[in-house]
Amino acid sequence: MNNNQINDQTKHKAGYVSILGRPNVGKSTFLNQVLGIKLSITSPKSQTTRHRILGIHSSDNFQILFLDTPGMIKPQYLLQEFMMGSVKTAMEDSDLVLFMIEASDKLRMEDELILDGFKSIKKPILILINKIDLVKKGRLLPLIQQISETFESSVIIPISALNKDGLEIVVAEIVARLPESPPYYPPEMLTEHPERFIVSEVIREKIFEFYGEEIPYSTTVVIDEFHEQEGKKDVISAIIFVERTSQKGILIGKNGVALKKIGESARKDIESFLQRPVFLKLWVKVKLRWRRDANAIREFGYGSKLPRK
Ligand code: GDP
Ligand code: MG
Repeated sequence: MNNNQINDQTKHKAGYVSILGRPNVGKSTFLNQVLGIKLSITSPKSQTTRHRILGIHSSDNFQILFLDTPGMIKPQYLLQEFMMGSVKTAMEDSDLVLFMIEASDKLRMEDELILDGFKSIKKPILILINKIDLVKKGRLLPLIQQISETFESSVIIPISALNKDGLEIVVAEIVARLPESPPYYPPEMLTEHPERFIVSEVIREKIFEFYGEEIPYSTTVVIDEFHEQEGKKDVISAIIFVERTSQKGILIGKNGVALKKIGESARKDIESFLQRPVFLKLWVKVKLRWRRDANAIREFGYGSKLPRK
């Protein structure tokens, strides 16, 4: 993205910006499009993002530390409680909040409750209406009116994350509200997550893409081995954990065909992210009912906080 237009700032600005909203409104797509890389996995299915993902957007005079979050929901099982914990800490840790809703939707009760909650935390908030490519202009106005009546001083920005429409305006509006601060991270850094985390997320995304409703939600991915070899391809070995033996069979498929398809598709994305060839090995294991098991959830790396510098 071109940030040259924001050059009236003499002092460097930096801060954390959390991206909140219901599942599937386009939070992760927004982050990826602003950064220009696929950092946070996306899917037409909801509840894909489980962790809080840090994405760093730097220019000469600002650094935005985006925190992409799982969609805000009422938790149905323990894993989701951990997920909502990460939403809450993202909100508390941020200097500014982006709240996203969909253009084709109404402001719902739960949005209003969330927005009311924001009033008390007294942080600047920008309301993004995403997916404007899907609606006619006329349909947008009632929603904008509804929001501005309910929240008089709110800044509302219609965007299409998918088409990169309006994203520069969002960045400019964020920068205008960030505190003066030196950068937190070196400007060339795009994230703080280790490569192995991003790799495990890519594999998880493929499982969301290739399987129906049940399997993706019962799955987590652990990188077992990741080593670079001089003059040879990196070797990455990943374990896909499922909750039941029957799911293992489905994931592997007849003669391993299904698993092979995931592996091929994941490998391509991993190579494009790492910018080097890799050899990817996938294994499937069962960890019974792990989504309701606090120890397993922690062991799989959910609910951990990012260090604040
Ligand atoms: P999240 O759950 O809020 O992170 O949502 P995702 O970023 O995973 O996006 C959910 C779905 O909405 C995906 O299929 C995206 O491709 C789609 N999506 C995101 N932004 C837009 C947009 O601006 N326009 C359209 N048409 N689809 C979008
Ligand atoms: Mg997401």
